[in-house]
Amino acid sequence: MPSLMIHRNDTVKVLAGTDRGKTGRVLRVFPDKGTVLVEHVRVVKKTVSSKRGQRTKGGIAEQESPISVSNVVLVCPSCGDARVGHRVEGDTRLRICKKCGQELPTKK
Ligand SMILES: [Zn+2]
Repeated sequence: MPSLMIHRNDTVKVLAGTDRGKTGRVLRVFPDKGTVLVEHVRVVKKTVSSKRGQRTKGGIAEQESPISVSNVVLVCPSCGDARVGHRVEGDTRLRICKKCGQELPTKK
């Protein structure tokens, strides 16, 4: 299985769907499903009902839903939408922007 180009804490731009054009930080990656969870993207409102006998308030909670990695693109810090390529240096495979050649570091 090919490894995903998108890592956690990457900044990505959404290409499709209702949140098209939005950028956000990757919160989680699901490599087996090929989906990512992006902050503030595809937020669904969930109704939270108050439970009897509990002091929790019912209301509406907002939560992100995963979207397909094919619908997002990595954002290059210098030129915008990155076309991601790889460059191998020793044992490490660096992600680079194919447009400007800048390395796209993996944030921890
Ligand atoms: Zn670039």
